[in-house]
Amino acid sequence: MKSERYFFQTSQLQNLLDKLQDAGYTCVGPQVRDDAIIYDEINSVEQFPRGINDQQQPGSYSLNSNQSTKFFSWANGPQAIKPLLFTAKEKLWQSKQSTDGQITFKTCDPDPKPIAIIGARACDIAAMKIQDQHFLQQQFVDPYYKARRGNLLIIAVNCSHPADTCFCHSTGDGPFVDDGADIVLTELENGFLCEAQTSQGEKILHGLLLEDCKNEQLEESERIKSNASKQKRKLPEFDIKSRLFNELNNDAWHAIASECLSCGNCTSVCPTCFCHGENDVPELDGKSSAHFREWDSCFGQGHSYIHGITIRSQTSQRYRQWLVHKFSTWHEQYGRSGCVGCGRCITWCPVAIDVTESVAQFVDRRCD
Ligand code: SF4
Ligand code: SF4
Repeated sequence: MKSERYFFQTSQLQNLLDKLQDAGYTCVGPQVRDDAIIYDEINSVEQFPRGINDQQQPGSYSLNSNQSTKFFSWANGPQAIKPLLFTAKEKLWQSKQSTDGQITFKTCDPDPKPIAIIGARACDIAAMKIQDQHFLQQQFVDPYYKARRGNLLIIAVNCSHPADTCFCHSTGDGPFVDDGADIVLTELENGFLCEAQTSQGEKILHGLLLEDCKNEQLEESERIKSNASKQKRKLPEFDIKSRLFNELNNDAWHAIASECLSCGNCTSVCPTCFCHGENDVPELDGKSSAHFREWDSCFGQGHSYIHGITIRSQTSQRYRQWLVHKFSTWHEQYGRSGCVGCGRCITWCPVAIDVTESVAQFVDRRCD
């Protein structure tokens, strides 16, 4: 469902947080920590990164204060919605051996609290839809993801200031949210255009002091969208899926690998990556242990270890796996590319490898 668009004054933003808390949600929103914008629990609008903007380049991220009174005039930091749904590390079960030698297993059932995330961006929602496909719409449903997803309310904010590393416009995933949120906000000079996309969102929104929106406010929103769509980076306009798959033996993989540190930063910040490892941690009593699931990366040495052999022992093979899966074979699994154009892997790569340049290098055939 999509409701009418309304307008609320900036002064209503605290009211929005209060209404969400009254409805039983823990609010999670953007705030500055350790010189980056991250998402964490939030109770007051004072915690939002007001008057802050970001500079992002390959391998570089910094924040500045400006004269703006806006709350959301920045592009995404390192986190997306992913850690709220597919947590970086969680205990799945525990085992215990009794004195008569019997071993019992106890699952750790998820019991997540309702969370309202404020400030999610279009690329984050596109990535969440991909993760929904992976965790909820395959043969086996992940109960941990499902429990968290069912308790998540999303208040998205349309992007007004994409970073130099963003390219969501060219993947078709942004900068404005089409669907998948509960409420969508667009920040204007004196307040927010707002629209509910679900009945839960409508209920929260109608607890605020809403005004009918005016034509000039709709025009301002269109201007923001048009400016935010003018992004510096884009993917090549070729059939990336099949061209990339035809370049598996290209020597250029070795050239990229000579720079790549195999650090896995790119997969850690990528909102669509879902690889994980599982391991058991025994207690010192020798009678019990806990089984954990933890994010893993295809850049790790152990990721392709099977029956005594590491299949992808070289960095060139790992970078190829990452890029070809994301942009080529992902289509066969999920019906689209695994990249939503958020640009995080470019900003947070310590050696400034740019995924748009890597793709172009192969599909433009400049390296032949
Ligand atoms: S591409 Fe960059 S971020 Fe990714 S593993 Fe290589 S060095 Fe690390
Ligand atoms: S591959 Fe890079 S740009 Fe694409 S979704 Fe992942 S982190 Fe974002």
